[in-house]
Amino acid sequence: MSIQQRLATLNPRQQEAVRFIDGPCLVLAGAGSGKTSVITSKIAYLVQECGMSARRIAAVTFTNKAAREMKERVGQLLKGREGHGLTVSTFHTLGLNIIRGELKTLGYKPGFSLFDPEDAKALLRDLMQKDAQVDADQINRVQGQISTWKNDLVLPGQALSHAADEDEQYAARLYEAYGRHLKAYNAVDFDDLIMLPVVLLSNDPEALARWRRKIHYMLVDEYQDTNISQYQLVRLLMAERGTFTVVGDDDQSIYAWRGARPENLVTLGEDFPRLRVIKLEQNYRSTQLILRAANTLIANNPHVYDKALWSDKGVGAPIRIVVNRHEEAEAERVASEILTRRIKERAEWRDFAVLYRGNFQARLLELKLQHYQIPYKLSGGTSFFSRGEIKDAMAYLRLLINPGDDNAFLRIVNVPRREIGPGTLEKLANYATERGQSLFAACHEMGLEQVLPARAVERLGRFTHFIDGVRKRMDQNEAISAIREMLRDMDYEAWLYQNASAPTVAERRMANVWILIDQLEKSMQREAGDDEASEETDDVESAISRLVLRDILEQQAEEDDSDRIQLLTLHAAKGLEFPHVYVMGLEEELLPHRNAIELDTVEEERRLAYVGITRARQTLTLTLARQRKTYGELMDCTPSRFLDELPADDLEWEGRADKEDPDKKQARGKDAIAGLRSLLG
Ligand code: ATP
Ligand code: MG
Repeated sequence: MSIQQRLATLNPRQQEAVRFIDGPCLVLAGAGSGKTSVITSKIAYLVQECGMSARRIAAVTFTNKAAREMKERVGQLLKGREGHGLTVSTFHTLGLNIIRGELKTLGYKPGFSLFDPEDAKALLRDLMQKDAQVDADQINRVQGQISTWKNDLVLPGQALSHAADEDEQYAARLYEAYGRHLKAYNAVDFDDLIMLPVVLLSNDPEALARWRRKIHYMLVDEYQDTNISQYQLVRLLMAERGTFTVVGDDDQSIYAWRGARPENLVTLGEDFPRLRVIKLEQNYRSTQLILRAANTLIANNPHVYDKALWSDKGVGAPIRIVVNRHEEAEAERVASEILTRRIKERAEWRDFAVLYRGNFQARLLELKLQHYQIPYKLSGGTSFFSRGEIKDAMAYLRLLINPGDDNAFLRIVNVPRREIGPGTLEKLANYATERGQSLFAACHEMGLEQVLPARAVERLGRFTHFIDGVRKRMDQNEAISAIREMLRDMDYEAWLYQNASAPTVAERRMANVWILIDQLEKSMQREAGDDEASEETDDVESAISRLVLRDILEQQAEEDDSDRIQLLTLHAAKGLEFPHVYVMGLEEELLPHRNAIELDTVEEERRLAYVGITRARQTLTLTLARQRKTYGELMDCTPSRFLDELPADDLEWEGRADKEDPDKKQARGKDAIAGLRSLLG
């Protein structure tokens, strides 16, 4: 499609936004109104109609996924060499490119490294432990504070002089030391990717001129979520020329917690008085009921700009709200429903997306999807089977059913720590290879004492003895309890606590391991269920092999990007759209999140719900559970306040508590009996 053909499909306001190149331009509009479409069309317009070289254009957005999608959309408009050298990336990738190009000016040596948050935390921990014992919470707090300073462009000196109290002074001094050490390591952290370029371009006119010659036009998607340093980067590069187009929606600002400044929308008007503001009002994505739900919900937030979105997509199906007994029933419901709906609606897997507030909510769902063999893709988090603790537990299970599994042996022989070092393992491996034995079997050999010191032999012996003991108990028809006991006996939990950045992280990891074991137990019962005669269980070996196979299939699935349902956090879903959307966990303390309720930031949670709802094109299903395990305890849940804020007439409830909840009836019965008793005295 050429740009002329594309322009013809756009509405007059969109066309205006694409054609306007005489100054800075802001497109401010609601979800699904074609903002991203304006950006992709405008890139093609600049190249094909204005004769601008693609390598002078930079388009930035927030996630890699969004950047990939945008590239794809542009690719359909630009042919052959036209798109050569075009930058479509995240802000951070753009920053990284600038740093790469300016290494010398910035005083870094070639081959600098990028510290991920874990590396950065380790460095900070070293620095903090110099003077005192510190806990994970303190480290997280300082790390968060440093990140905020960097996003707000506050340098260490300024942080120190403005510090309000001793805590802040302490953090500011660490900020300075941390920066010095990073530099000594020839390393930068994530926030530096934006801050360093901004500091450089503000202080070095030559560098600034170089980059202004390189980038002539900038386009920014999801502008409402830029932070101060990102905004400054755009401002510095484009400056008086004002050659940029930014698009955004204040109702979709969901990154305030990471330093985003939705007020950058207002600042833009002050910094660029010539700013052309264009509003779009037609939504091309969703049915009228979905759109009305979104509009009604977000009307509960205060507004700077009023927006009136409309759609001519037809009324569409009512919005379904499905109440489930507990979280497992919720996951089961979503998985089994997608299985049947795919056929009924003649849809593909990729037409479905399941969104949720926190990654942990995906755990149960993943297991259910695997059970039904529904292909899925999990974004913005680690898939269940690729988590370290699950890999450890799986290695134990594999070794239990197959002591010849050397890979499993190597993964866990020293997890938790058993003081068995790499030197010992190397000698053991040589010895085993010579004899054509497995590592585990070799540990039982008397001859081992000739190649290893007695202490090492003893430690290996203790480990194999431990595993042999568990194997024996498993044979005595109590496999699952033997496995649970094993995990307790070796105190895997304590090991997790020692190695986690925070106690809550360790807690979550341990919970994952228990989920895996529960799953194993269930899978044995299920297989045995068909056979009334057998005691109660299928043998543990085949149940474990089934789990291992799932794991492998999972990994293979990771490689092809074909037809799969999408599992995403609400944050990661920004900018995307799907024919059928499920949003899970519409409960108080989950959505809105408990912290948000405590900190009084429910408005941001409402925007998050708004983002979720507006991802849907044809159908929207909201699910919730009446009970959910929280910190190991089964808790009653209250339906989310956001459900009350939706237009009641457009909703279709299933399993609503106040209508036919047997548990509640029973509870009321009990109340009545108690009341009678007290009356009778
Ligand atoms: P969000 O706020 O969720 O990021 P958006 O404003 O960026 O949404 P787009 O993703 O650009 O919206 O567009 C939403 C859908 O509408 C897309 O499927 C897009 O192809 C389609 N669309 C956009 N403009 C038009 C148009 N003028 N005619 C028909 N379809 C359009
Ligand atoms: Mg968009």
